[in-house]
Amino acid sequence: MDTNRHPLATPVQYVKGVGPAISEKLARMGITTAGDLLHVIPIRYIDRRLILPISELAPGKDRTVIGKIVASGISFMGRGRKRIYEIVVEDETGGRVSAKWFYFKQRYLEQKFKLETKILLSGDVSEFRTTMQFIHPEVEMLSDNPDEIVAKILPIYPLTEGLYQKTMRKIVRNAWDAFNKYVEPVFPDSMVEEFGLADPWGCLQELHFPASDIDVELLNIGRSKAHRTLIFDEFFFLELGMALRRKRIVHEPGIVFTRDEKEHSRFIGALPFKLTNAQLRVVDEIRNDMSKPAPMNRLLQGDVGSGKTVVALAASLQAIRSGYQAAIMAPTEILAEQHFETITKLLKPMGIPHALLTSNVKGKEREAIYRGLSNGETPLAVGTHALIQEEVSFKKLGFIVVDEQHRFGVLQRAAILKKGEGRPDILIMTATPIPRTLAMTLYGDLDVSVIDELPPGRRPIITRLYEEHQREKLYQGMRSELSNGRQIYVVYPLIEESEKIDLKNATDMSRELATVFEPDFKVSLLHGRMSGDQKEAIMTGFKAGKTQVLVATSVVEVGVDVPNATVMVIEHAERFGLSQLHQLRGRVGRSTYQSYCILMADYRRSEDARRRLAVMVETTDGFKIAEEDLSLRGPGEFIGTKQSGLPPFRVANLARDIRVLSQARETAFKIVDEDPDFEKPEHLMLKKILEIRWAGKLDLASVS
Ligand code: ADP
Ligand code: MG
Repeated sequence: MDTNRHPLATPVQYVKGVGPAISEKLARMGITTAGDLLHVIPIRYIDRRLILPISELAPGKDRTVIGKIVASGISFMGRGRKRIYEIVVEDETGGRVSAKWFYFKQRYLEQKFKLETKILLSGDVSEFRTTMQFIHPEVEMLSDNPDEIVAKILPIYPLTEGLYQKTMRKIVRNAWDAFNKYVEPVFPDSMVEEFGLADPWGCLQELHFPASDIDVELLNIGRSKAHRTLIFDEFFFLELGMALRRKRIVHEPGIVFTRDEKEHSRFIGALPFKLTNAQLRVVDEIRNDMSKPAPMNRLLQGDVGSGKTVVALAASLQAIRSGYQAAIMAPTEILAEQHFETITKLLKPMGIPHALLTSNVKGKEREAIYRGLSNGETPLAVGTHALIQEEVSFKKLGFIVVDEQHRFGVLQRAAILKKGEGRPDILIMTATPIPRTLAMTLYGDLDVSVIDELPPGRRPIITRLYEEHQREKLYQGMRSELSNGRQIYVVYPLIEESEKIDLKNATDMSRELATVFEPDFKVSLLHGRMSGDQKEAIMTGFKAGKTQVLVATSVVEVGVDVPNATVMVIEHAERFGLSQLHQLRGRVGRSTYQSYCILMADYRRSEDARRRLAVMVETTDGFKIAEEDLSLRGPGEFIGTKQSGLPPFRVANLARDIRVLSQARETAFKIVDEDPDFEKPEHLMLKKILEIRWAGKLDLASVS
């Protein structure tokens, strides 16, 4: 037996009422210890302090009634004659209410809902053909003992399949009874006072067993003192980890790349365009960082079309001139190929060997590339994740660019770093404008450079929202642009479950467009199921202007650069997320021609979809769009918590709790700065908790 184990780290199956079966279910929710169980936060609360007379029941939220079951059994509903389980409950007022279940185990419910049994129902009440009804209410079977129900506020916990609310409440109670004495204060008094925190014991007590005089509304919107404390706690330990990561990176030995001003100016001077001020500024930031002994971990943010590739190249050249190799990694073949092409053009005056490695490169050619990279004759590699395959080795890789980073997981980034010589510098590029608050949290250990300016002469894209009945108008507009010599993208969503149908739609659409525009203009179809060669042939045809209309599933989403394309038509725009719409729109507006984005939307669209489309029409500012996206979808969806490698927040909400985040961050960084080894007695507990929360993650994180 592990005697050093903290009691709260006791495996959850030793909590009374939790056997192997339940502990397996809890594990699915990430609950493995008694402490985890105590820290499950209720989603909301049922207020049973007010029991309503059934005769006065009206539609509304969170209603509770008590009565006797007067009918119970299967009934049928709707045109589909769907089987439902229904009971009718009556109380002394003579009022009747029904409760319905659409998903049920008949035998189980029949046994449970015997006629004449006293029952408590709570949940939302709606009206159905003049009768009031509960759908899937919370129920509690009551005995006839009138003292049994004391007024109470009941927590609703998050559950997983096969785990019931009642069970959850019972085991949380048991865990609390056995382990509450081990819940210790966490924060030093000074912090408790400054930020108005509750002590952890009181916090958990309040959340699991609210006192009967509590403000349930505050609990339900996550605004109670207990919630505030937990939010602070979540942010604080995240930021404390970030602060340590950052400190650690700063002290790791990295590579010093020499700044060679003359060579650099020559490269800049030979470019076919003048760099924008923003580009010049970030190139300088990056090159400066590279010349320092600590490893660089930098995020380069810049809206689509802001010109990140040339910045990446300028930085790569500094590494190459210092005797190292550089690698630029893109998430798709099309994008890698395009980077390669751009770079080939820009490097022409310099004669620096460079190679493209994707799964399309095969046989002898591939072997030659492997050779060039491992013997160092090829100083610059551009590619997809093909670059991180085992067979690839570099002679002296010192600089890595990861483009469109949100598409790569933490692990893939770690894999490319491993191919390096010591600890390479890394530049992560993203066109997804990440709201400052989120960037601060997710990349708290990164430095950030922002290109906040587009190359000159670009006109803002005009965005319009069309419905199906305006299709004729759409075609007229398209024809007029095509006649001016411009090109057009038409994008179809590809949604996994219905991939086949969507593909058929894209195929049908390309046929329809062919009948409308051919033979004057050529229409081609590009989709994800095509082989790399096929895709490349079609993309090349479009770039060369042999095809005027490119119908595509969302493969053009990332990074494609065809300046002559001026119209982006997005079919079923209501199905795309905001950042995706913004990325797609960014495919046009890459020249001095006026560009257009037409959102074709289904008339029936959800409230969220309506909002998204409105935002797109309103603004082209990527950062505004990102903020909207964040508030619509929440941070988890926004960035993909799985990929970010961070724990999901249980109570904190990045869109809502920004102020708490900055407080927590500031405090955490200050502590790491003043007491990096947590030697002060009041910081001991912080260290302990940090180790539990970040167990095993600090290492991986330092290379992410
Ligand atoms: P993104 O930031 O979306 O990756 P790219 O690097 O693909 O943008 O650049 C978009 C286009 O703008 C490319 O055709 C590129 O050559 C061009 N470009 C980049 N910088 C400038 C500039 N300063 N002036 C004019 N064109 C530029
Ligand atoms: Mg790009």
